[in-house]
Amino acid sequence: MADEMMEELRDRVGGIFHCPTEIKAGFSDLAQAYDSQRKQYLSSKLLASLGESEREERVVGIADVDIYVPRLNFVFGEADIVSGTAIVSLCRLRQEYYGLALDEALFLERATKEIVHELGHTFGLEHCSNNKCVMHFSNSLADTDLKEASFCPKCRPKIMPMI
Ligand SMILES: [Zn+2]
Ligand SMILES: [Zn+2]
Repeated sequence: MADEMMEELRDRVGGIFHCPTEIKAGFSDLAQAYDSQRKQYLSSKLLASLGESEREERVVGIADVDIYVPRLNFVFGEADIVSGTAIVSLCRLRQEYYGLALDEALFLERATKEIVHELGHTFGLEHCSNNKCVMHFSNSLADTDLKEASFCPKCRPKIMPMI
C-alpha cells in the first residue's frame, strides 16, 4: 500500500485515540501463516508475529492479504487484548476486490473503521449491538459501510481516557 495512504490512516486513527499507536505496513514473514488449501493467511499467526506492545501503547499490523480464522470464511481483522496488538486486512476493503471501480475515499473510510474497531478490542471493548457504532461486528462489507468510525454513547465512556 502506498506510503501516503498509510500516513493518511495514521493521521485519522491518531486523531481518535489519545494513546500512542503504531500502525505498521505489512508483515515481514507472511509465508509462515499461509494456508495453501484456503489460499489465505491465518490471522492469529500474523497477529502473534507482532509480539507484545509496550505498556500503554498499541500496535496494529496492516496486512495486504486475505486473512481468516478457523470456522470463518474470512475476517477483516483480529485483536489480542493481552499483547495490545491487532491486525487489519485491507484485501476485502477495496472496491476492486469485488470487480468494482477503485474508490480511494471509501477505501480509507473502511480501513479507518476496521482499525478503530480492532483498537477498541485491545482496550477491552466487546461487540456492540448498535449498527452505527464502530464496535458493531462486520459480518460483511455492508456492515462496515453502515457503521461510523466513532464509538456510540454506550461504548464511549468505557474507553474514555483513551479517546
Ligand atoms: Zn470485532
Ligand atoms: Zn457501541
